[in-house]
Amino acid sequence: MLIKKIKVALGIIAGRVFTGPIEVSLDLTRNCSVGCIMCWYWSPLLKNPPSQEWLNKQIDYNIFLQLVKDFKRLQVKRVILGGQGEPLLYPKIFEVIETLKKNGFEVSLITAGVHLNDYKTKNLFELGVDHIDFSLQTAAPITYLKIHPNQKEGTLERIKSQIQLLSELKKKFNRKTPKIQIINVICNLNYQDTVKIVELAKEVGAESIGIKRIDVIPETRELLLNNSQLDELKDLFKDAKEKAKQFGIETSMDFYQEFILQGLTTGVYTSTYYSQIPCYVGWVTSRILSDGNVVPCCGCYDVILGNINHNSFKEIWYSQRYQNFRRESINLNKSDLMGRGCKCYSCIDFEFNLGIYHKLHPFGT
Ligand code: SF4
Ligand code: SF4
Repeated sequence: MLIKKIKVALGIIAGRVFTGPIEVSLDLTRNCSVGCIMCWYWSPLLKNPPSQEWLNKQIDYNIFLQLVKDFKRLQVKRVILGGQGEPLLYPKIFEVIETLKKNGFEVSLITAGVHLNDYKTKNLFELGVDHIDFSLQTAAPITYLKIHPNQKEGTLERIKSQIQLLSELKKKFNRKTPKIQIINVICNLNYQDTVKIVELAKEVGAESIGIKRIDVIPETRELLLNNSQLDELKDLFKDAKEKAKQFGIETSMDFYQEFILQGLTTGVYTSTYYSQIPCYVGWVTSRILSDGNVVPCCGCYDVILGNINHNSFKEIWYSQRYQNFRRESINLNKSDLMGRGCKCYSCIDFEFNLGIYHKLHPFGT
């Protein structure tokens, strides 16, 4: 990994790529039945939901097998299965995980957990998934139903029992993986659960809590906080951080509090910072959507750099179009990526970009 990171860093400095990305996010399917209220595709608040044709897209399994070969050639280290749908609904999800693990990749799964049962949970454990993000958003059953209005009573408890099963298997077989993270996208329906979710993480045996910003579209703006809710949340953060420390649970709360929290009333989080630092995603990560389109990150779905149904991922990664994106993103303050649909003002990769910036500029230059 060290050599890989050095190659990536040299590429950034030279303004070109000498190796593939460290990680690739692969959206296997757009299928989902969870119906999260903040979802851009499945929220019940949407006035014009995407077409069935759009929602039906998924990665062809044979194309996936070609991708694996490319990932190996490009020395990709980690594959993240998540995205615009629920990866557990991909028909060959277990074959995908097995193939990735057999080929030496670290595998991360992002799931709402709704479709898990004992058989599937044990399968994920046995296949050696390295990291699972459970996107729960709350610790309270009533709030869970507000955020997931189409789910039945008892769903949160059922998911919790599957996470507990995973933790028990880890203990029984003395394994550290999969690392379990509880995801909490904060909105005005769940901000009051910020302390309770730490307790939930402890109860189910999670190692960390990922606090995320809500990325709103016009129909979901009503989920943003007002000023008094934000003040209340700031107080809750103090207790939540203390409790997490006491339980030995890692959280991203310090970062969130410093850089993100204030944006919860507007949905604008990162614009100011990007006038000062570049974006490095073009060297480190990539995203493949269920329709085969390759995009640079989770915020730039309209910046299409190629399609794996027409070209190999390796060709796309080394293409002039990808290189043009890198040139723009490294000079983000001068580029018009936002004008072309990139959500750099609400960038989920900001923490990661800031981390790289500090490594490359240890003396703050
Ligand atoms: S699980 Fe993901 S894809 Fe499914 S509704 Fe929720 S946010 Fe959307
Ligand atoms: S949204 Fe903008 S800043 Fe964020 S990773 Fe994408 S291009 Fe970079």
